[in-house]
Amino acid sequence: MHHFAYKDGDLHCEGVALSHIADEVGTPCYVYSTATLQRHARVLAEAFEGQDCLIAYSVKANASLAVLATLAAEGCGADVVSGGELQRARAAGIPAEKIVFSGVGKTAPEMELGLTQAIHQFNVESAAELRLLSTVADRLGRAAPVAIRVNPDVAAGGHPNISTGKKGDKFGVPWAEAEALYAEAATLPGIRVVGVDVHIGSQIGDLVPMRAAFEKVVGLVQRLRAAGHEIARIDVGGGLGIPYKPGDVPPPPSAYAAMIAEVSAGLGVQVILEPGRVIAGNAGVLLTTALYEKEAPDRTFLIVDAGMNDLMRPALYGAHHEMLPLTEPARGAPEATYDIVGPICESTDKFATARALPALHSGDRLAIMSAGAYGAVLSSQYNARPLVPEVLVNGDSYSIIRRRPSFEEMLALEEIPDWLN
Ligand SMILES: *Cc1c(COP(=O)(O)O)cnc(C)c1O
Repeated sequence: MHHFAYKDGDLHCEGVALSHIADEVGTPCYVYSTATLQRHARVLAEAFEGQDCLIAYSVKANASLAVLATLAAEGCGADVVSGGELQRARAAGIPAEKIVFSGVGKTAPEMELGLTQAIHQFNVESAAELRLLSTVADRLGRAAPVAIRVNPDVAAGGHPNISTGKKGDKFGVPWAEAEALYAEAATLPGIRVVGVDVHIGSQIGDLVPMRAAFEKVVGLVQRLRAAGHEIARIDVGGGLGIPYKPGDVPPPPSAYAAMIAEVSAGLGVQVILEPGRVIAGNAGVLLTTALYEKEAPDRTFLIVDAGMNDLMRPALYGAHHEMLPLTEPARGAPEATYDIVGPICESTDKFATARALPALHSGDRLAIMSAGAYGAVLSSQYNARPLVPEVLVNGDSYSIIRRRPSFEEMLALEEIPDWLN
């Protein structure tokens, strides 16, 4: 559920007409809904009521400070995958004891940052990483709380590019090697084993692969405990899917929570969740303006002012996003079929193919829906386009939470060497 709907002929985010934001901020721009972020965080928290649970929001889905601060106020922790994300989470007011650090490529300085901040947990993804973490922690005189991310060899996820728990994926420790690595971890200075971690993919539309992975993890926890390890936590990762189009029916958080409760019953562990998309995805839209219609022999292009540098999901994953005109189409208004494309000089700069929409004209504006996760975070300045601004709505008011940079700011980090002057 989200808080984007037509009111009096205008698409609104909560109490604010999106056309008003488009006028004031210009397009393209992202708009996020506070009420939707809060609702998603609360629905998850309520689903897990009664279970010992930490909701560590996956910062990489939407790393805006204002979004993080909104979720911090809901009691969320954070799952970070870099030192930069760790500092963002802290800057937004998320306490270190609610932060878990994931990712296959942590550097020594990033480990040091996590250790000096005393974060809740490191999710370790390889033997080499474990040994380096031991060295760094020992040097600092600290003990790193560690869960080893295991690869359960279960296929899941809405697209091959977002499946992460199959043998052959770069993520996690191969299933057959996990117990030996726990045995080594127990001997290493600066390492305190606390849990087991798994994350099998993203945009997962049914609970069957998740249950299969978690059941394997529970079996592993029992074997590890029998071998003398103190396993107090299981981190089940993120990955819960969201509806991107009518007819998508992902599992509700209540069913997800019930499945986890059932699988982990009697284990006496803290369950750590790393939800990203399910919290932020439907809490954001990308506003864009139609620039030109262009007729080709077999199709009509609608060229809009947002590009793949602003929202990469369609180009990266072939992702589907619904599109809604900011002005509500009249009943029975004429329809047209468009390929919706951006201004970038790449053929993959395309948001939709053969999409039926109310007939649109230059200057008409659209909301690209469900763009709150893996949207702005993946944006770039490709084609020397300024980074897309972000706006947060709260009831009847809104605030620009990242403004569009000026051209001077875009060039500020660059220099022409002396020999060219
Ligand atoms: C990306 C990621 C998540 C979040 O995934 P969603 O599908 O957005 O919920 C959680 N944990 C890890 C380790 C990730 O890489």
